[in-house]
Amino acid sequence: MNRLTPSPIPSVDRLLRTSEVAACIAEHGHTLVVTYTRQLLADIRQNHNGCEDAIHVNTLPQQVVDRVQAALAPRMKTVFNLTGTVIHTNLGRALLADSAIQHLLTMMSAPNNLEYDLATGGRGDRDSMVEELLCQLTGAEAATVVNNNAAAVLLTIAAFAQADPNKQDIIVSRGELVEIGGAFRMPDVMKSAGARMIEIGTTNRTHPHDYERAMTDRTALVMKVHTSNYAVQGFTKSVDEAELAPLCHARGIPLATDLGSGALVDLSQWGLPREPLPQDMLKAGCDVVTFSGDKLLGGPQAGLIVGTKAAIGRIRKHPMKRALRMSKLPLAALEATLRLYLRPERLTQDLPTLRLLTRPVEHIQATAQAVLPALNAAFGSHYGVTLVPLQGQIGSGSLPVERLPSAGIALTPLQAKGKGRALDALATTLRRLPQPVIGRIHEDSLLLDMRCLEDTTPFILQIKQLQPLSTSQP
Ligand SMILES: *Cc1c(COP(=O)(O)O)cnc(C)c1O
Repeated sequence: MNRLTPSPIPSVDRLLRTSEVAACIAEHGHTLVVTYTRQLLADIRQNHNGCEDAIHVNTLPQQVVDRVQAALAPRMKTVFNLTGTVIHTNLGRALLADSAIQHLLTMMSAPNNLEYDLATGGRGDRDSMVEELLCQLTGAEAATVVNNNAAAVLLTIAAFAQADPNKQDIIVSRGELVEIGGAFRMPDVMKSAGARMIEIGTTNRTHPHDYERAMTDRTALVMKVHTSNYAVQGFTKSVDEAELAPLCHARGIPLATDLGSGALVDLSQWGLPREPLPQDMLKAGCDVVTFSGDKLLGGPQAGLIVGTKAAIGRIRKHPMKRALRMSKLPLAALEATLRLYLRPERLTQDLPTLRLLTRPVEHIQATAQAVLPALNAAFGSHYGVTLVPLQGQIGSGSLPVERLPSAGIALTPLQAKGKGRALDALATTLRRLPQPVIGRIHEDSLLLDMRCLEDTTPFILQIKQLQPLSTSQP
């Protein structure tokens, strides 16, 4: 901003007395500001290694203020999810319904009956907030909830594999040994839960007799895992729960199924692909069904476990249940979310996940039309800005091969040379906005899918505040 000033690094005290830094102290206090003043000066000393002639001394007060503000700014911020994936694991999955947010806030602002029985005045069980509702919605005899579905699976396996030292075998098809993401792989989960995993069948085909042959008096559980984040196609065969349950029960072996996403209502009524429902799995004869709270259910992070009284009782008694229990914040949100399912006709309005998944493509196109002028004004000098049909996804491992017809904006570099760099620069610019905009790069364009943009005003305002690209950029 100005010429290089060959002046020495100022002292902490001198910097603290400048008007900008003094104002910062008045607002935020001495401790924080001194910390970042010292840090700035230490960084300068290190970077300049004795040669102090490249320091812009008069910019130092502002640099202190910037560092203080950066330290106070939350790292977690809302973003615009324009990826086209509605339930995006990296972007926080399902959005909560208004009633869930309200209930959560209310429950946080005062003491509540989380573990207090208002009828008897004695100790209560936090599961009771949602158990009756879950039983009503799924037809289960009993239900319990934990921190997430990975925890639900881990706890279920542990509860069955550790009950009897002579019964630690858990049978699972090789076609269902899934990795859910990160380090959560079914074989590792089995091991860490103390189970001996008995793999049967092959990657593409498993038959009823594979299960039957593996069942012994050491079998603790037969486990089915919904292959939610990939699809095996072609010459395939798996044994579904309805076929498997009688084989298990004839030998007194319980059957558990992990649905992953697990919708509570049939999505095909809105033209969406049908996901298996927990209620179907229970009818088919499963003793335990596990599913996520923040995937298709549209609630907070949670692991829901429904099943028979005996199975749920055993799971609830395992010591790990205490370690994996739900916190009161998501529990309040879960309760309110589940209550929305008592009014199924209203779900596509009340539940953001379903509202977005069922959004008519004409609405999405209208949104794209509405944001196009602002994007064109900001980027049109260097990028083609066009309305395009797109294919989105449900996300979070639900229905991996299905596509949702959608619409959005494609930003395509006008210059043939350095296209990749131009796209990366654009994606970076959008990610650095106060409310970052997250799209996806596909071939030669940055695509902004408008399915999840319901209110265009804040988006347009933010784009308008961007400086139009100069001819020397990007
Ligand atoms: C997503 C998923 C899980 C993990 O659920 P979280 O709620 O993310 O812990 C487990 N199993 C399957 C099949 C899944 O799709």
